[in-house]
Amino acid sequence: MARYIFITGGVVSSLGKGLASAALGALLQARGYSVRLRKLDPYLNVDPGTMSPYEHGEVFVTDDGAETDLDLGHYERFTGVAARTTDSISSGRIYSNVLEKERRGDYLGKTIQVIPHVTNEIKDFLEIGGDEVDFMLCEIGGTVGDIEGLPFFEAIRQFAQEKPRGQCIFMHLTLLPWIKASGELKTKPTQHSVKELRSIGLAPDVLVCRSEGPIPDKEREKLALFCNVRQDAVIAAQDLRSIYEAPLAYHREGLDQAVLDAFGISPAPKPNLEKWEDVADRVYNPDGEVRVAIVGKYTQLEDAYKSIAEALTHGGMANRVRVRAEWIDAEIFERDEDVAPLLEGYNAIVVPGGFGERGTEGKIRAAKFARERKVPYLGICLGMQMAVIEAARDLAGLENAGSEEFDHEAGMKRFEPVVYHLKEWVEGNRTVQRTQADDKGGTMRLGAYDAVLTEGSRVAGIYGGCAISERHRHRYEVDIKYRDKLEAAGLSFSGMSPDGRLPEIVEYDDHPWYIGVQFHPELKSKPFAPHPLFRDFVRAALAQSRLV
Ligand code: GLN
Repeated sequence: MARYIFITGGVVSSLGKGLASAALGALLQARGYSVRLRKLDPYLNVDPGTMSPYEHGEVFVTDDGAETDLDLGHYERFTGVAARTTDSISSGRIYSNVLEKERRGDYLGKTIQVIPHVTNEIKDFLEIGGDEVDFMLCEIGGTVGDIEGLPFFEAIRQFAQEKPRGQCIFMHLTLLPWIKASGELKTKPTQHSVKELRSIGLAPDVLVCRSEGPIPDKEREKLALFCNVRQDAVIAAQDLRSIYEAPLAYHREGLDQAVLDAFGISPAPKPNLEKWEDVADRVYNPDGEVRVAIVGKYTQLEDAYKSIAEALTHGGMANRVRVRAEWIDAEIFERDEDVAPLLEGYNAIVVPGGFGERGTEGKIRAAKFARERKVPYLGICLGMQMAVIEAARDLAGLENAGSEEFDHEAGMKRFEPVVYHLKEWVEGNRTVQRTQADDKGGTMRLGAYDAVLTEGSRVAGIYGGCAISERHRHRYEVDIKYRDKLEAAGLSFSGMSPDGRLPEIVEYDDHPWYIGVQFHPELKSKPFAPHPLFRDFVRAALAQSRLV
């Protein structure tokens, strides 16, 4: 049975709990253990699928089609372990399961209560797959003291109590603020946070403290004494220039050792950190730089396109260059007559995924600029649909080309539906049907689907083969009715669903690098295994930078 590590946070949010969990997962792997990482989120949404990226950052999609928290992206990028539906849960999902059971009569007339019914539901979730790995790392979202978080804290307390001794440990992440005026690092907020934890029956074994600088011995002693942890289990988490140094930095601070000590594992297997040394070397010692414009909608919040930013970094690592990604609000291109001055300084352009009409005309103009000026272009999901609409309007003479998505939103018919609402598709050997009237959540083509690439196409060369599987999250689809017209105009449909009905990839043969993909390649990129499309896209950007 797996050993469980519960990761909680205190003092403030956004301390990098997800990253600390992911880095710890990577370190345990480096010592030869198998791991799985999980996120338990106290919010009441059933899943983050319907939350605005402004609120919650990107929605990370798993192979098996779950819409999850972006922390699962960190977990995958650091461990390479593909996340599953059962790696993420929210209070909303827990309560909806409990209420469903209540309606079914599963509780045999009992009064339904947070303890034991909700906590049991959480504990059942924790058990899933517990016999498959050496370590299960479970991160609890939010901070200790949040009202919503209480059932989760209570459930992990019970869980640890019911397991054999030494099967579960608790790691708590806090902040040590630096008071400039007195030149001091303050431990009091951490003490309070641990006190709060202990008042609900949880005692941390490992304390990870975010701080700007190292933790002096005096403060370390104080933390150990007042928080009741061992001194060598007080781990400093200093700000890093790159998140990809986190496994090495945490190892230097002794995090993995402290965790193994807390479990009483001795002697601990030696870690092999070569992979992370290479990753850090590539991030910190680039040989040049390329500039990439990301023309999107949710540009105020970088987390909204987290995986794209990371995948570009990975592409840079593969080419040993730094990728300077800049976010441009697509709506700017709708105001300005000439987009050229705004885009000329970039070596490549990405149009990422998105929903709704706002900003789409600007994205179409960016796609046109890239095509005409022969600047490398990567269109992802909505970005591919924009590239197709651009080609339909400008090259195939379909002036009114557009997406049904925008007509649906506006409640009127204005466009020729080159991109139409997908209501039926094949999943394995069954046909899935969806209608407009379905709930907003769960009406999309979600998760991993196979695609077949045309032999000899640029993408087949990039992937090094013709059979691929990539993750999807979309409702609308390019209509193959327009394929012949578009291909005659120069846009090849070089990737299709295995049944030949759904376009997956489009590209121009007479362009240095112009590819649109209906899926999200960024979700599968890793620092130690950059996604081939991002690797080659950055290579093309580098070639472009040498031309100018
Ligand atoms: N809004 C588009 C669709 O639903 C694109 C989705 C996306 O970019 N993820 O098809």
